[in-house]
Amino acid sequence: MNPHFQARLVNEPFGDPALYVAFTFRRRALLFDLGDLRPLSPREILAVEAAFVSHTHLDHFCGFDTLLRLHIGREKTLALFGPAGFIGQVEAKLAAYTWNLAPSFEADLVFTVTEIESDEAGRAAEFRLRERFARRDLGPVVIKDRTLVAEPDFRVRFAILDHGVPCLAFALEESRHVNVWRNEVEALDLPVGPWLADLKAAVHRDEPDDLPLRIHWRDETGEHREREHLLGELRRRCLSVVPGQRIVYVTDALPHEANFRAIVELAKDADFLFGEATFLAEDAEVAAARGHLTACDIGTLARRAGASRLIPFHFSPRYSERAEEVEAEAGRAFTGETAG
Ligand SMILES: [Zn+2]
Repeated sequence: MNPHFQARLVNEPFGDPALYVAFTFRRRALLFDLGDLRPLSPREILAVEAAFVSHTHLDHFCGFDTLLRLHIGREKTLALFGPAGFIGQVEAKLAAYTWNLAPSFEADLVFTVTEIESDEAGRAAEFRLRERFARRDLGPVVIKDRTLVAEPDFRVRFAILDHGVPCLAFALEESRHVNVWRNEVEALDLPVGPWLADLKAAVHRDEPDDLPLRIHWRDETGEHREREHLLGELRRRCLSVVPGQRIVYVTDALPHEANFRAIVELAKDADFLFGEATFLAEDAEVAAARGHLTACDIGTLARRAGASRLIPFHFSPRYSERAEEVEAEAGRAFTGETAG
């Protein structure tokens, strides 16, 4: 089954960090970081419904203005997530402009902003165009399982990294695909019908194998029929469960073991790991002083995590003539050709 998402970096590896994730066949998208967004089309930007900001260094947040500019005049709610202090920073961005005409605008644009203070707690605030983007505090937010957004198709989780300042890494986790083998359903002398949706839902909820499932239907003669099967039996015979895609975004982290552990845990078995490779290992001291990973670090972490693919990015401009070297270093560490 096709994955629900297509992820791509907005800029080339020397450009600002921003990952655009489009939902296949739907006009919905997510952004991870808000660096320079100008390469995106207005149509692509208007499809964005949530942005996850790792931290507010300029190159990760300056694209907020592009997002704001294009959405003025649209009736829409945009969800923004960022680290501790983020609400105040969004407030400051919005306060930089004059909104005297905004109360008369027909379409209201709303930002709901959540800042993450710890793995369990955050706070939220709302900014409405028609209220001239005056801050409206929504109070504390309880966070469970480090999950920021949970929908039937996917969820977004985070890890708090240390970049000198708190910096968030994100994982977009697609739900499992549950496919039905119709011939097996028919072989059990069961109808294809709405009960299959209940069966799939039970599998998504991770219900135990011994859960009884009562199936009701009317046969050709209109007679009511009913049977009971155990979930485990139906799962084994009638379903194939394919794990969903995991897309992980990691950028700006000090190269120390606590960060490494957090990154490996978040990126475990990722299908795609987008990871910063800001410096070459030969400049490891500069990397540590500026709170960044080297290409060798991210390659090693991708290998430790068992990621399937590593896409290194956020290269320092000092290597503008040496992009292949950065890529090669990350690739060697990823495949285990160099000890890291
Ligand atoms: Zn930074």
